[in-house]
Amino acid sequence: MAADDLERETTDVLRELVRFKTVNPPGDERPAIEFLAGYLSQAGFRTELLADDEDRPNLVADLGGIHDGEPTLCYLGHVDTVLADPSEWDHDPWSAEVIDGVLWGRGALDMKSQVAAEAVAGATLARGGWTPRNGGLKLVFVSDEETGGAIGADWLTSEHPDRVRCDMLLNEGAGDVFEWAGSRRYGVCCAEKGIFRFKLTARGVAGHASLPRTGENALLKLAPALQRIADASPTFDLTEAPAALLAGLGADPNDPAQALELIARVDPRLLVLFEPMLGVTLTPTMAHASDKINVIPSQAYLKVDCRVPPGLGEEAARRRIGDVLGDAASDLEIEFTEMVTGNSSPLDTPLMDAIDRWVRANDPGAETVPMILPGFSDSRWFREQFPECTAYGFFPQRHMTLLQTAPLVHSANERIDVRDLGFAAACYSDLARELLG
Ligand SMILES: [Zn+2]
Repeated sequence: MAADDLERETTDVLRELVRFKTVNPPGDERPAIEFLAGYLSQAGFRTELLADDEDRPNLVADLGGIHDGEPTLCYLGHVDTVLADPSEWDHDPWSAEVIDGVLWGRGALDMKSQVAAEAVAGATLARGGWTPRNGGLKLVFVSDEETGGAIGADWLTSEHPDRVRCDMLLNEGAGDVFEWAGSRRYGVCCAEKGIFRFKLTARGVAGHASLPRTGENALLKLAPALQRIADASPTFDLTEAPAALLAGLGADPNDPAQALELIARVDPRLLVLFEPMLGVTLTPTMAHASDKINVIPSQAYLKVDCRVPPGLGEEAARRRIGDVLGDAASDLEIEFTEMVTGNSSPLDTPLMDAIDRWVRANDPGAETVPMILPGFSDSRWFREQFPECTAYGFFPQRHMTLLQTAPLVHSANERIDVRDLGFAAACYSDLARELLG
């Protein structure tokens, strides 16, 4: 199929998807999932809806036989989105207007665009009579990613492993181009950080706020801890994926401080995005003290969103917390409220080679570079459930760069250059043909 046709069809499918309001919560993904099921079954896929909650099903669509010993390539995507406040947008978040070649709407980047490109790649291959000669192509479109996947990918991989087992998986996480010292780089997300959120509690003695020296103000005891977090300099825990990122940028992974200086010199805006990939981060986000303005609090807490590099766990989090807080923590209780270890996929794989070859062929002079997602995606459920599965995040965009797209995700005025929809659909189509014959 010609590149123009792929772009047009992917744009049409994305416009349909944006118009389904799938803000999670509540999600209400069924109409969007049914639309995709209809679109793919018409093209020749076998489709099945699997649901824990009937209003919020997941779609599994297969092309070709799934046989033992032959590879299964899976394209994954979530159809739910975060909320949007139309008063903050220049164009309605759910009308999917295309203005000067740019499609506006919630989900235009995260990640209805990738869902559309994956669906159109699969559908055009199937309509053209192509079936995998070796193995099978699977499209899996899920609900409920934005609040953790409890009835989406987490549920699907644990309750229906035989329906979604795969050897190679492409999902969200990276792929937007960035300029690096005169050349162009496309990130391939190979790993995701873990979450070790914790609560710091200070205790004191209540008193009347008109007499500040009565009682013992618990809120004031949190101040030194907050200040230490604000003043902390970045840390490094170089596991395989961060080391590969630094090496890919031409920096010395054994000297991360110097590597950060190099990134800052090349483009300080990239430092903001790359630095959190390298170590444990602590971000205070919530606090609570007295329930009454005139009562000195006997108890106060601070909640900190702590992210830990892939493969590392509670010990790394505790070490970092101890280093940052020092004696400011001696009076405080620390309690972890959420603990999820981040996971990763190997870097040296046939899937990585195929992506790298595709990038070099379709954007001459460009290269791929491994990336780590500071956040969290559905890939982690697949890696956990299917240890043999290589899962990467890759949605190639060349007309809008990483520096343009990153601030728009989960934000107002989310939008995509429609040329990138055709670019990504061509990528998924080419990779399926190359990897499955
Ligand atoms: Zn997403």
